[in-house]
Amino acid sequence: MNNSKIFIFDTTLRDGEQSPGNSMNTSEKMRIAKQLERLGVDIIEAGFPIASDDDFNAVKMIAQEIKGPQITGLCRATTTDIDRAWAALQYAGERARIHTFIATSPIHMERKLKMTPTQVLTAAVAAVKYARQFTSNIEFSFEDAVRSEKRFLLEMALAVIDAGATVLNIPDTVGYATPAEYGAIFAYINEVVSRDIILSAHCHNDLGLAVANSLAAIQNGAQQIECTINGIGERAGNCSLEEIVSIIRLKSRELPFYTNVKSELLVPSSQLLVSTTGMRVQSNKAIVGANAFAHESGIHQHGVLADPECYEIMTPESVGLNQNKLVLGKHSGKAALAQRVEKLGYVLDKSEIDSLMVKFKSLADKKGEVFDEDILSMLGFEPEEGRFELNDLVVSSGTVTMAKATVSIFDYKELKRTVNLGDGPVDAVFGAIRNLTGNHSSLDDFQVGSLTGGTGAQGEVTVKMSRNGMTVNGRATSTDIIIASAKAYLDALNRLEKATQVEELI
Ligand code: MN
Repeated sequence: MNNSKIFIFDTTLRDGEQSPGNSMNTSEKMRIAKQLERLGVDIIEAGFPIASDDDFNAVKMIAQEIKGPQITGLCRATTTDIDRAWAALQYAGERARIHTFIATSPIHMERKLKMTPTQVLTAAVAAVKYARQFTSNIEFSFEDAVRSEKRFLLEMALAVIDAGATVLNIPDTVGYATPAEYGAIFAYINEVVSRDIILSAHCHNDLGLAVANSLAAIQNGAQQIECTINGIGERAGNCSLEEIVSIIRLKSRELPFYTNVKSELLVPSSQLLVSTTGMRVQSNKAIVGANAFAHESGIHQHGVLADPECYEIMTPESVGLNQNKLVLGKHSGKAALAQRVEKLGYVLDKSEIDSLMVKFKSLADKKGEVFDEDILSMLGFEPEEGRFELNDLVVSSGTVTMAKATVSIFDYKELKRTVNLGDGPVDAVFGAIRNLTGNHSSLDDFQVGSLTGGTGAQGEVTVKMSRNGMTVNGRATSTDIIIASAKAYLDALNRLEKATQVEELI
């Protein structure tokens, strides 16, 4: 193939994870990192090591355990940040990349950094030179590049290349560019820098143009795309990995590029992220939305039955959408479960299969049939173990009386119990938990869904809760939605206890 390779730099665990409702603990990040490795991304941005100890530990563990892709972590252009990043990244050895940045737009330099352009340039060069003692794999980002002066950007680019940077990332931090504008910046820089320097695009979707802008960048010399699964990220999100990768794959005749991403793992990766964070994607989302391959109108259905290519530009199978739904039951063994998991696009080691088998058996005993959605939910989701745990609850409700909940929980192993009335059983239970925990967090959203069809289906409850600017999603599934609600509420409280404020950067 003469097409040139586009490096896929996944920042689901950094830019994605720092957006509301997408925070993950270390084991959840590890699970996503393993999936990204299988998916075939080239670089994993695992976090922002100086932001918190949790972030540091996650980057370190990913650097230690993930073997295929390069591993990077973000750091500001200071020696403290770079030291901290390297302390975590060094475990990736030859595959470690330092990613450092400074803002280059007039507004950021004047208002945020309170630095002159000369001071910014000096700091950038010093940071890259400092990072060089650890590795020669150094990415430099010009924060808010799109609103920076082009000449200054070029001057900065040449200076950091001279200092040793090998990848230059030109982000549209605020999502303000159009494809023509963004492409022009790459053309301008690409004309001057040599081909062995990799130019990188990092786009935000504030105007819905993140993918289009990323495409314009590669048509003008970018060789690396920074993107996230499901397009999660700050504000309206980042360039969606599944979309840009699918465009490159489907347009390989028109556009001379390719990636190493395994397209048939796109949907499984999307679903794993959803079941891990509880953040669903909209039904009409390209590639991975529930309706992406649904045909509603009679004319369309007729056409697809005659020949799928009438209305489908790609097959569902090519992106890993499994339409052959198989049901497992309580008599299904470990081999059948392992095979099903593999068919869904995941590879688990023996201990992971063993722990899944325990959950599977307990669910199969309760509801008889276990569907793919149930398996996905078990794979992606583990309650946050922490301070609070549900011990027992009893609820009565009806058309005339007020709902009454008797709830007991463990608070650091201490059993607490209360009775509370409410407008309906969920309100009564949540009020009881609030009284028991003294919780003053705000409950921003409460959603009840069902994993599959039928009244025997598991209810899935998501509770969005925030405190001091930190937002978490608590989740739980159960065949009883009141129990699921209580558990989801406690899961959110446990996550809030653990969460630390991550600074909003880049
Ligand atoms: Mn960003």
